[in-house]
This record gives sequence, structure tokens and C-alpha cells, in this order.
Amino acid sequence: MNFLQEEIIKKARVLNEDVLKVDSFLNHQVDPSIMSKIGKSFAEHFKDKAITKVITVETSGIYPALFTAQELGVPLLVCKKSNSFVLSQDYYCTDVFSFTHGNLYHMIASKKYISDDDNFLIIDDFLATGEATKGIVTIIEHTNAKIAGVGICIEKTFQNGRKELNKIGMKNIYSLVKIKSLNNNTLTFE
Ligand code: 5GP
Repeated sequence: MNFLQEEIIKKARVLNEDVLKVDSFLNHQVDPSIMSKIGKSFAEHFKDKAITKVITVETSGIYPALFTAQELGVPLLVCKKSNSFVLSQDYYCTDVFSFTHGNLYHMIASKKYISDDDNFLIIDDFLATGEATKGIVTIIEHTNAKIAGVGICIEKTFQNGRKELNKIGMKNIYSLVKIKSLNNNTLTFE
């Protein structure tokens, strides 16, 4: 059992059969010592991949992504969420459906921070339906930049995220914790 699994057992709460609440340490109140361990774990796993930049989407992806970027010694690019369509030629933009909020948002990233010789590591807190990660992939696919892999803190394997990412060619997905089920108010790990 790794440190994140232990923390989840101690502090997470099953909200319903689809959603795990981790707001005491991962995405509302944030524990820097856990984030530091998460950053070290991702950096260790992807250390030979010649990553030039870490990328995530606001908000809760920022904490693990920032610690990972620090460990790898590279910048972090944070894709923004916008409710109004961004017409500016300066941004890449794609539409993403939010699993937790049940709405569509525009994901944007400035063209000046993505170059063709970038090799990205995508980091996010959860992998559920895969929509957020697919949005980031779409943003990067506007360019000739490469994606070395995806690092996920908590993957819910009973949802389709990994399958969806595999379908678009994303194979190198590394999850620190995999959750098989949240049924009957009970958390079951893989
Ligand atoms: P997706 O469905 O696109 O893979 O998930 C997108 C985002 O929804 C994740 O980055 C995460 O912020 C949020 N999310 C998905 N599932 C959960 C969950 O079980 N608990 C919490 N707290 N957030 C989740």
C-alpha cells in the first residue's frame, strides 16, 4: 500500500457511487507533504522521458502538477477554463464536458507557451471519464509537440477514462492509486 492509498483510507469520504471526496488533503484544504510525495513519485516514474513541460488544467490539477514540475525542474503550463468563447488568435481552445459539474466549458492555453519541440507530461488529480485529459491532448495536438505520458493521482477504473485515452493513442498512463468501486458506500482498491 502506498502513501496516497493510506491517506485516502484515513481521510477520503465516499460521496456516492461515482464520486470520492478528498477535500481535506487533495483539492480544497491541501496537504503540501502529500503533494510533495506525489510530485516525487511522478518525477521518479517519468524521469527518463525527457519531459520539457508539465501541463494540467485548473484548478485541482495544479497542486500535484506544480510539485511534479518542481521535481523535474521544468515549467508548469496550466490550461484555463473559460465560460465565454475565446476568439483571440493567441489561444488554442477546445470544449470539454465536466464530469463533476455536469456542464461544458472552454479549455484554453496560450499559443506562446506550447512549442513544437515540447515534450509534455500531463498531470491531473483524478481520471474519471477522461474528458479533461482528452481536452489537454486536443490542445497539444494543435501543435507538433509530443506527449510523453499521463500521471494521475487517483484513477477510478470503473469509469471509462483509461479506455477513452487508449482510443486516442494515449498508452503511457501511470496512476498512483486505482479505485475499483465506490458502491455501497465502500471504497474498494484494485
Ligand atoms: P474526467 O471525467 O474528465 O476524467 O474528470 C475530470 C475532473 O473531475 C478531474 O480532474 C477531477 O478534478 C474531477 N473529478 C472526477 N472524479 C472525481 C471524484 O471522484 N472526486 C473528486 N473530488 N473530483 C473528481
